Amino acid sequence: MADVYDLIIIGAGPAGQSAAIYAARARLCTLWIDSSFIQGGQIADSALVDNYPGLPGRSGQELGELLAEHAKKLGMEPVREKVLSVAETQEGEAGFSGRCKIIRTKKNEYLAKTLIYAAGASHRKLQIPGEEKFSGMGVSYCATCDGAFYKEMNVAVVGGGNTACEEALFLSRLCRKVYLLHRRASLRADNILQELVMNTENIEILWNTRPQEIVGEDAVKGIRISKGLPEAAEETFLPAEGVFIAVGMEPNSGLLKSLVKLDEAGYIAAGEDCASSAEGIFAAGDVRTKQLRQVVTAVSDGANAVASVCRLLRTVRGRMRFQSV
Ligand code: NAP
Repeated sequence: MADVYDLIIIGAGPAGQSAAIYAARARLCTLWIDSSFIQGGQIADSALVDNYPGLPGRSGQELGELLAEHAKKLGMEPVREKVLSVAETQEGEAGFSGRCKIIRTKKNEYLAKTLIYAAGASHRKLQIPGEEKFSGMGVSYCATCDGAFYKEMNVAVVGGGNTACEEALFLSRLCRKVYLLHRRASLRADNILQELVMNTENIEILWNTRPQEIVGEDAVKGIRISKGLPEAAEETFLPAEGVFIAVGMEPNSGLLKSLVKLDEAGYIAAGEDCASSAEGIFAAGDVRTKQLRQVVTAVSDGANAVASVCRLLRTVRGRMRFQSV
C-alpha cells in the first residue's frame, strides 16, 4: 500500500503558499505540488500589488518570492509536477476511515487523507477570430510580461475591471496611445483606478465597444470593432499593434468537477472554512466562491483551509488507523 500524506496542497499561488506555511507550522505530513517554476502564481504577472496590508509598493513577483521564502524556511517547497487527475478511494481503503484522495501526475500517484485545492483561475478568452492565431505575437493577457514589446506603439486593452485599468495604466507609461475598449458605458473597476485612467492623457476609453476580430497578417494590425449600443452599433477598424485582453478570469476547477459542487460560474462552492461538498477536500484562493479575489483573501483561505484540515483530522482520528509516511 502506498504511503498516505496527511495533506496534499495543489497550487503555489498565495493561497497554496499560505496553506504550506500553516501546514508546516501545524506539523502536518504534507506534499505540495505545483507545475510551474514561478513563485506566487497569478500575482507574478502584477507590476504592482499596492493593496496587501503592510507591504505597499511591492511587485507581484516580489510578494510571491517573499511568500515562497517564508515557506522554504519552514521546509516547504513544491514538487514541480502537473496534476492530471484527482480521485477518491473507497471508504476505509488505505488504512483511513474516510476516502483518501488520489492525486495522479504524469510520473506519480500520491495518496492523502485531505486535499487543499488552490489551483486559482486563468485568463478568460474573448473567443473572437484572430485571438488564438496572434496569441503571444500581438495578443497578450499580461501587460507586465509583454508591455515592453510595445514601446511607443498604439495598443488596445479590452475590459472594464480592475485588471483592465491596471493594464492600461501600466501600458500608458510605455506606449504612445492606449485605447481601453469596454462593452458598457461605465467601468466596474475601483473608483481610484477609474480616476487614474480618466486622468491619464494617452488613455482613451471607447465605451460600448465590442471587439469582433483581431486583424493582421504576420503581425497584428488592429481590431475590427462594433461601436455603440447593440441596436445602433457601427462596425469600424481600430489600428493597434498590440491587444491586451483583460476580461476576467475563469476558475481552474475542472479537475474536481466530478467530485465537488461548483457554483453557477464554475467556482468551487465552499464557505470561509474552505470545506467543499466532499469530505476532506478544501478549496482555497481564487478557485473558491467568494466576494473578493485578492492576495489578502487568498492567503486568508490558505490559513483557514489548514485549520479545517486539522479539525477534520482530529475528528476522524478516533475512527481510523493512521498510516503515515
Ligand atoms: P472583472 O472584474 O470580472 O472584470 C472583467 C471585465 O471584462 C468586465 O468589465 C467585463 O465587462 C469585461 N468582460 C467580460 N467578458 C467580456 C467579453 N467577452 N467581452 C468584452 N468584455 C468582457 O475581472 P478582473 O478585472 O480581471 O478582476 C478579477 C478580480 O480580481 C476582481 O475581483 C478584481 O477586483 C480583482 N482585482 C483586483 C485588483 C486590485 O485591487 N489591485 C487588480 C486586479 C484584479 P462588464 O463590466 O460588462 O461585465
